[in-house]
Amino acid sequence: MMKLAELIEQNIEELAILDSLDAGKLLSVGKSTDIPGAAELLRYYAGAADKIHGQVLKMSRPLQAYTLMEPIGVVGHIIPWNFPTSLFFTKVSPALAAGCTMVVKPAEQTPLSALYYAHLAKLAGVPDGVLNVVTGFGHTAGAAISHHMDIDMVSFTGSTEVGREIMKAAASSNLKHVSLELGGKSPLIVFDDADVDLASDIALLGFTFNKGEVCAASTRLYVQEGIYDEFEKKLVEKAKALLIGDPFDPQVRYGPQVDKVQFEKILSYIEHGKREGATLLTGGKPIGDKGYYIQPTIFTNVKENMMMVKDEIFGPVVGLMKFKSVEEAIERANESKYGLAAGIMTKDLNVANTVSRSVRAGSVWINCYFGIDNDCPFGGYKMSGFGKDFGLDALHKLKGISSTIHAR
Ligand code: NAD
Repeated sequence: MMKLAELIEQNIEELAILDSLDAGKLLSVGKSTDIPGAAELLRYYAGAADKIHGQVLKMSRPLQAYTLMEPIGVVGHIIPWNFPTSLFFTKVSPALAAGCTMVVKPAEQTPLSALYYAHLAKLAGVPDGVLNVVTGFGHTAGAAISHHMDIDMVSFTGSTEVGREIMKAAASSNLKHVSLELGGKSPLIVFDDADVDLASDIALLGFTFNKGEVCAASTRLYVQEGIYDEFEKKLVEKAKALLIGDPFDPQVRYGPQVDKVQFEKILSYIEHGKREGATLLTGGKPIGDKGYYIQPTIFTNVKENMMMVKDEIFGPVVGLMKFKSVEEAIERANESKYGLAAGIMTKDLNVANTVSRSVRAGSVWINCYFGIDNDCPFGGYKMSGFGKDFGLDALHKLKGISSTIHAR
């Protein structure tokens, strides 16, 4: 794993180019974050690999017993296209450390870096058969994994709809373990005492980072009435000023959507939002006639029962809503079938504590956003799934089978 991390670092430029070509990701972000982050994650789990312990159990009779932690077996990793490298290593690193063998199926839109990683793993000395990459479509290659009788666990990241299919396949085949990291529609709550400049920067990042194709994107934006007007003005100005363009240009902050399907889906949600009566503050249109670019789009006058507020759009579209009290913010933030992440902007520690404990979200970020890190378990509540990635929690789920051994 250490050697693989080294090889990744020696090939950062080439790997980042592959993800940019496949997914339209910013090359600058791939080079500075996604690819080096993969090497760091491998090292994090490599360091944990020899610290996996069972327990000595206290028996009521004069016997000895202990538990033995064993790899869960063969793991099928099925991942989406929005972070081809990060998600590959989010799955593979703890599985290697736990001693599992695995089959990884990247998304059909973004297979290139996964194939390169399989090649690097071989060069690093990972034994044949341990880390296998199978490309293909979901209904064929993906379904073959989720129905397979010799696969012991499917660790899936993707949409809630496909997560449901995976659970059904697991139930109707060999009752394999399932871990699901699914969609989201995360709230960002901005209170009156927040620094409006910082809050509007974070709100912009929250729905435009990776052109909005982020599971934890903050796409329901609740702003307290005292600063609402000032906040709205700043956010709209900043969205209009975002430098949009070729993802290979180091100055550019925002690139094209992954493909035509996603591009059309986002535009149809925008049209639906207008028909539902939401007011478009900025954006809402494609940019140019080359590439699948969509303007960062901000709606106001939106309500929780509108489709554009209920559904995960997975694009650069945010709904701006006004609230009065802390209680109202909590209630409305929780009015979602998803529970992946939430953000809170306030200087008041009591408010931050109360809201972070009351919002049903797997990750809550206070005065920051996208605080995803190697040691921090990440995963949702409600229809955002179950079973954490990252941290030692991810390792535990993969060495989850513990034999209990008794001896006289
Ligand atoms: P998707 O569910 O359509 O596809 C994800 C993967 O599942 C792909 O590899 C696909 O080929 C495969 N697949 C599709 N149908 C399948 C089937 N019937 N059986 C087995 N595999 C199948 O998702 P997507 O459009 O690629 O990605 C976007 C979704 O991923 C969003 O909902 C987003 O929120 C979610 N996501 C979640 C997280 C998280 O950590 N919670 C992270 C990134 C993305």
